Amino acid sequence: MVDISFVVPAYNEEKNVRILYKRIAEVMKPLHKEWEINYVDDGSTDRTFQDLQQLKKEFSHVRAIRFTRNFQKAAAMSAGFLHAKGNIIMTLDADLQDDPREIPKFLEKINQGYDLVVGWKVNRKDSFEKRIMSKFFNLLVRRLTHIKLHDSDCNFRAMRKEVAQSFKIYSGLYRYIPSFAHAKGFKIAEVKVRHQKRIYGSSKYGITRLLKGFFDLITVKFLLSYSKRPLHVFGSLGLLTSFLGFIGGVYLLVLRLLYLEPIGSRPLLLLVILLLVLGVQFISIGLIGEIMVSQKADPKDDFVVKELL
Ligand code: UDP
Ligand code: MG
Repeated sequence: MVDISFVVPAYNEEKNVRILYKRIAEVMKPLHKEWEINYVDDGSTDRTFQDLQQLKKEFSHVRAIRFTRNFQKAAAMSAGFLHAKGNIIMTLDADLQDDPREIPKFLEKINQGYDLVVGWKVNRKDSFEKRIMSKFFNLLVRRLTHIKLHDSDCNFRAMRKEVAQSFKIYSGLYRYIPSFAHAKGFKIAEVKVRHQKRIYGSSKYGITRLLKGFFDLITVKFLLSYSKRPLHVFGSLGLLTSFLGFIGGVYLLVLRLLYLEPIGSRPLLLLVILLLVLGVQFISIGLIGEIMVSQKADPKDDFVVKELL
């Protein structure tokens, strides 16, 4: 039985992986817990994997998963989650920016009954653009998914395994674990964490990440709100456009029949046709969506049980 599994994505993090291990081991020693650390080498081109091999030889707590090439952090996170055996899963970056000395704070919150604990880098040691982008992004996430976290994007997190198992974490969606957990009714806490400057290696991300993150956010919002009932969103749109088309159509009909005006060359006629066709299309898309959902709908996904007596 493993109490705590760490999941650590590492892409070109030679040196860091060993220092991180040492720091975590130091923190975990007095806690007397069973723990393991899952490093995922995301196709590093430096000596990260050799470092991990060496660590594995020395310490039984270590598991190292090596990718054939760089599949991006999201894939590394997924692989780490798949291998994590612990009742509690903790994620953190390999670059030593997250300080392992904060780990007990997270575990304490879990002991208090929280299901997910998210770090809040109060004093973030990153570039100005990154901090501004992150502020904006967090604001958007708070608005759209109704979570009350300052730093929902922070990868320094602890969660019970039930949280990780209650939804599929694929592609970039690991960033939205708090949003999914909130939607599933899990109790979420936030802890302030120290953030450190990178010393070895370099950041792998630029501004393009934000665009991807934004598309992911649209996906998350859609998955959370409508993925079970696509007709509810497309049907509403369809009804709205059909209704507008209908009003316009009635108006044109009145003009034509009561006032005997010619309507053949009016732009409104085109608009009415467009709206009616759109309405039919929206409703059809919703229905096709419903068919797709019903193919693999699982009643177990509709709820999360907290206790069973
Ligand atoms: N990472 C990864 N695959 C990638 C890019 C990054 O596994 O393609 C890891 C990286 O090794 C680090 C974490 O993801 O442990 C965060 O990366 P980075 O420090 O570059 O991001 P930043 O902290 O600058 O947002
Ligand atoms: Mg970093």
